[in-house]
Amino acid sequence: MNRYWSKIVKNIKPYIPGEQPKDRKFIKLNTNENPYPPSPKAIEAIRLAANETLRLYPDPTCDELRTTLARRYNLEKDQIFIGNGSDEILAFSFPAFFEPAGNPILFAEVTYSFYPVYADFFNINYRLIPVDAELNVSEEGYYQDNGGIIIANPNAPSGRGVSEQTLEAILKKNKNSVVIIDEAYVDFGGQSAVGLINDYPNLLVIKTLSKSHSLAGLRVGYAMGNEGLMQGLTRVKDSINSYTVDRLALDGAKEAIQDEAYFQETRSKIIKTRKRVTARLAEINIKVIPSHANFIFVSSAQCHGEVLFQRLREKGILVRHFNKPKIDNFIRVTIGTDEEMDCFLDAIAVVCLIK
Ligand code: PMP
Repeated sequence: MNRYWSKIVKNIKPYIPGEQPKDRKFIKLNTNENPYPPSPKAIEAIRLAANETLRLYPDPTCDELRTTLARRYNLEKDQIFIGNGSDEILAFSFPAFFEPAGNPILFAEVTYSFYPVYADFFNINYRLIPVDAELNVSEEGYYQDNGGIIIANPNAPSGRGVSEQTLEAILKKNKNSVVIIDEAYVDFGGQSAVGLINDYPNLLVIKTLSKSHSLAGLRVGYAMGNEGLMQGLTRVKDSINSYTVDRLALDGAKEAIQDEAYFQETRSKIIKTRKRVTARLAEINIKVIPSHANFIFVSSAQCHGEVLFQRLREKGILVRHFNKPKIDNFIRVTIGTDEEMDCFLDAIAVVCLIK
């Protein structure tokens, strides 16, 4: 606490990102990074962009990257917005589309823990939609008066996915609110809502290059939706910082999106590994919530989640544990390479059984 802090800074509870260890070599399965390197073409583009033009500001409208994404998704350029990671776009969305001290926005009781942080920061009321013991969210929860909706699909940290039909039903019943679908993990087997954009002007889909394009370090995310929503986001951006995405990021992201073959190859590998690991865990009686993401949420009847986390850490394997009701008995494990996951499988089989 510092006497010069504003009231809002005194009262916020910031999001706590997963550990990025510096001291010791871990098998790092804690922050849902992609274990494979980015597309070689993207790396080359970033290298080439590191030249004397860095003297100049980047294009604040991110025109070329938006054109590339528009082509990829069969949308118009004006239906795309680019941000410095999808977290930034989520942050911009709160003041852009939700009313301070107004009707509560809705999101699941168990979901991405940044949502309540943004809501508190922007003084936006929220109501939590309960999840059952299997971490399912009932769609009826979204059929009540609200000031906005945000759904991570697939959800984090459970990995559970919602079908496109369910999303459409939710959109139909909420035509007066903006419905944000956070698709950070959708490329690993979820159902995207992108195909609904031209039918629902209240739909905002947010994606990222951090996971499925192995570019967490580059910080590029994008939103897709009705042109008016994109203008809303742009108004927020241009009231805070017009140049959120730098020249290296713009060029690298463009190449990564264009390298479709590499993207397909790496995401398929991760899906295949996830299926193999899930099946193996079931064989050794470890519960896995069915996942459509690049992580799995697992628990053991023999060993509490927090103990599992600690014991795996001692064995050099870093996973994520959330000390929160309903999920404190689970650990979230990012899908790594097959070799990394074999180490994890060996370790969890042993640590579960320690008395
Ligand atoms: N949404 C969800 C559900 C996430 O888990 C994450 C990653 N922590 C993000 C958004 C943000 O990703 P980024 O800012 O790297 O695009």
